[in-house]
Amino acid sequence: MKNVKDYIRTIPDFPHEGIMFRDVTTLFSDPRGFRMAVDQLVYPYMDVQIDKVIGLEARGFILGGAVAHQLAVGFVPVRKKGKLPGKVISQDYTLEYGEATVEMHDDALKAGERVLIVDDLLATGGTAAAGIKLVERLGAEVVACAFVVDLPELGGRKALASMNIDVHTICE
Ligand code: IMP
Repeated sequence: MKNVKDYIRTIPDFPHEGIMFRDVTTLFSDPRGFRMAVDQLVYPYMDVQIDKVIGLEARGFILGGAVAHQLAVGFVPVRKKGKLPGKVISQDYTLEYGEATVEMHDDALKAGERVLIVDDLLATGGTAAAGIKLVERLGAEVVACAFVVDLPELGGRKALASMNIDVHTICE
C-alpha cells in the first residue's frame, strides 16, 4: 500500500532556481492519498478538546477544512494581507522565500478557545509562528500545529518547540 509520502511529487527549481518544491496537489487529487492524509492529521486529536481549526493560506484551507469537518468543529482562515473583508489583526513574518504579512478576523476566536493549526508543509516555521501569534493575541490557545510534510533541515519543528507548541507531522 502507498504511504502519504508516495503521493507527493518534487518539482525542481520552483518558485526559484535551486528550490526543490514539494507539491501536494498530487496528494490532494488522489482519493486514497487525500483521505489518508486528512485521517492521519486528525487521529491524534480525536479525543482532545479542540474548539476551532485554523488553516494557513492556501493549502492549509484544503486540509484544514477537511480536518475541521472530521473533528466537527469550526474553521478559521489565516489569510495573506488584504484578503479578509472584516476587521483584522495582522502579523508580519519572514518566510523561506521573502517577507509577508498574514491576517485573521479579530472576532474569529474567543479567549480561551483551543485551536489546531493546519498547513501542508513545515519549513522554517515562520508562517506557522505568525499564525500562532495571531491566535495568542486573541487570547486563544494553540493545542498543536499539524502538517503533512516536515522539512527537518529547515528547523521549523525546533522553532515551534521553542514557542512551547506541539508539532504533528506525517512525513519528512
Ligand atoms: P515556513 O514558513 O518557512 O515554515 O514555510 C512553510 C510555508 O511555505 C507553508 O505555508 C507552505 O505551504 C509553504 N512552502 C514552503 N516550501 C514549500 C514546498 O516545498 N512545498 C509546498 N509548500 C511550501
